[in-house]
Amino acid sequence: MSDMLETISHTWEIPLRATVDVAVIGGGSAGVAAAAAAARNGASTVLVERYGFLGGTSTAGMVGPFMTSYTPDGKRQLVGGLFQEVIDRMVAMGGAVDPGTTEAGSAWASFIELGHANVTPFHVEALKMATLEMVCDAGAQIRFHTSFVDVVMDGERIRDIIILDKAGLGLLRPKVVIDTSGDGDIAAKAGAPFEVGRREDGKMMPVTLFLTIGNVDDARVEVWMREHEQLHPGERLFECIVKEARERGEWTLEREFLNIYREPTPGQWRVNSTRIQNVDGTNPDDLSRAEIEGRRQAWELIRFFRSHCPGLEHAQLIATGTQVGVRETRHILGDYVLNGQDVLEGHKFEDGIAQCSYPIDIHDPQGPRGRLEGIHADHYEIPYRCLVPRQVNNLLVAGRPISADHEGAASARVIPPCYATGEAAGTAASLSIQQGMTPRDLDVKLLRTRLREQGAIV
Ligand SMILES: Cc1cc2nc3c(=O)[nH]c(=O)nc-3n(C[C@H](O)[C@H](O)[C@H](O)COP(=O)(O)OP(=O)(O)OC[C@H]3O[C@@H](n4cnc5c(N)ncnc54)[C@H](O)[C@@H]3O)c2cc1C
Repeated sequence: MSDMLETISHTWEIPLRATVDVAVIGGGSAGVAAAAAAARNGASTVLVERYGFLGGTSTAGMVGPFMTSYTPDGKRQLVGGLFQEVIDRMVAMGGAVDPGTTEAGSAWASFIELGHANVTPFHVEALKMATLEMVCDAGAQIRFHTSFVDVVMDGERIRDIIILDKAGLGLLRPKVVIDTSGDGDIAAKAGAPFEVGRREDGKMMPVTLFLTIGNVDDARVEVWMREHEQLHPGERLFECIVKEARERGEWTLEREFLNIYREPTPGQWRVNSTRIQNVDGTNPDDLSRAEIEGRRQAWELIRFFRSHCPGLEHAQLIATGTQVGVRETRHILGDYVLNGQDVLEGHKFEDGIAQCSYPIDIHDPQGPRGRLEGIHADHYEIPYRCLVPRQVNNLLVAGRPISADHEGAASARVIPPCYATGEAAGTAASLSIQQGMTPRDLDVKLLRTRLREQGAIV
């Protein structure tokens, strides 16, 4: 125990590796969009990513499909710009289905109606390539296998970013930093205030290890679902089978039904059904426990599919995520905090830079179910102020950790708005450098005009 409490002081000589306009830290959905937008708007841009490919939770975590990017009635697209560009690239590769064609309640949507129209099923390898091409074509430099370590502050400004790569520690010196680490790692180190999980008790949503299975009889799964929803309206996929197995003591997972989504490849489905509680995605011990437990649950699912689920009798495990998917950690506090009421009532803002209609989707931090509550409007907006952290002057945050409370984030965390906030942050970073001002002081009208010119929907 005394070993764990010991700290040492150590001095390093750290070489300066690059001086750039914009450093984007984290190459997930938000980071890809931020880097491409910053570079296209003329900023010298570096994208730092700890893995050897882009996409983050949507590739390393194998999370998908992209949730809805349309209004709930499916009539109007809400997220375009770089998000749609990535989809178009994947469709051209034969690796995705355009969200304009996918229906709520279909196999693409795991037979779920609410908030699940116009999803985008995609192949993970197609997404890795489409995002890579988009960022490279934009002219951003990518530093793979590079981890963010710390910041060097100059008052309320980040002067340097300390990174770790195969050559050791190094420094990046950017004018503006965009935190797209998913967890707000950079903002937290820079001293921006944040909340963790639910405000009342700090509890976070459970994590899930995704898997892809193959050799599925697609038609049989569909027939089972259609027969059962007629007999028991509202029943979810294989819910009665799971219930009976639990009563017999043959099901130990903390789930009441199976959440599986058809992929573009016939016979292949994405499985969102493991669940590990009490994991803080910023705590290395918790993450290690989650990876071990997630993989154990993945194999329990495979055995269960084969022995109990019509259409899945011959299912093969094709892949598990490189890492567990983390739904919630830090919410970085910005100049505005998006809340559940904003989402449900469809609030619009003068500085709106992204639109979303996805329901509040909370996986219960303490139990098997959750809350999926649809919005009472055609969409809500995310204000630019949610991207501007308090107390740090040259930093923007995009993606999952933007300034939102537990309920607000439970909607805005899905992939389409992560792209939209990433595109806004990258564009804002570049414009603010051109205007010689901090991102906080940027004229939002100018930003909104530029976003529209780029094809983003604001
Ligand atoms: C289990 C689960 C199921 C979900 N289901 C869906 C769904 O079906 N559809 C949907 O649209 N959304 C879904 N979501 C939400 C969505 O997937 C995420 O919120 C979204 O992908 C987050 O994107 P991001 O860019 O903010 O972060 P991420 O995609 O997590 O990207 C962060 C990036 O930063 C990198 N990084 C982190 N720390 C460092 C560091 N120190 N140094 C260098 N790089 C670093 C990571 O490797 C990663 O590439 C789900 C989420 C989870 C966890």
